[in-house]
Amino acid sequence: MKKFLALFLAAVLVCSTAVMFAGCGGKTESSSAASDSKTSDSKSSESTATKGELHMATNAAFEPYEYQEGGKVVGIDAELAQALCDKLGYTLVIDDMEFDAIITAVSSGKADFGMAGMTVTDERKKSVDFTDSYTTAIQAIIVNDGETKVAKADDLKGATVGVQLGTTGDIYVSDMEKDGTKVERFSKGADAVLALTQKKVDAVVIDNEPAKKFVEQNKGTKILDEPFENEDYAICLKKGSELTEQFNKALAELKADGTVKKIIDKYIKAS
Ligand code: GLN
Repeated sequence: MKKFLALFLAAVLVCSTAVMFAGCGGKTESSSAASDSKTSDSKSSESTATKGELHMATNAAFEPYEYQEGGKVVGIDAELAQALCDKLGYTLVIDDMEFDAIITAVSSGKADFGMAGMTVTDERKKSVDFTDSYTTAIQAIIVNDGETKVAKADDLKGATVGVQLGTTGDIYVSDMEKDGTKVERFSKGADAVLALTQKKVDAVVIDNEPAKKFVEQNKGTKILDEPFENEDYAICLKKGSELTEQFNKALAELKADGTVKKIIDKYIKAS
């Protein structure tokens, strides 16, 4: 009987340990994109000593790059920022704000870096430094199904177009104002798409991957086939920041070991 009891207890112990591990594994998986990582346990870090916090300015309304899920900011940028901070020994803290506040937050030193599916532009380079690019994107045009007026990029001339304030989409379309285009600027891409579904605008110009998410979430909308502008995404930092070099080095390592690709592939399924 005693022997049986001992065996039984051993079995229980093995099972519960297994469950514990499975539980931890699952948790690590789902929270690996964790944002406010003051709780960061530097699990994948090479440097365990924390050099302190790094505040990342973002606009978490840009799935799959950054969005809120279960009270956390998740997405490609959140996860890549976490990997960079782990590698360099910093604790990541994510500050969610309007997209057009990010550059000022970074250039004024309120945030240490900005990462928000942000396109490198010469204009922005006047205010901030950029790291090397970590991925590319294109601007997409979203219209309602059955839209006849806007069938290609050139048709945006003279149309009413919704954009997200301060984005490259805003810049491109604003260039067409001289051709009679009316630009409606929204603080969130989702609000521009809502205006489209309500027929308040003829089209929305926004980055391709978020555009795909918006179309998935809004029946009766579609992306025009014709690609618009090609862009490079990078991290922005205060001008002259010594972090830029550290980030570039860590980024190169994360590209070389496949981490960057793994993170992107997790959020963007090949179609
Ligand atoms: N890539 C665009 C830009 O940099 C949009 C970014 C965004 O809306 N988060 O302006």
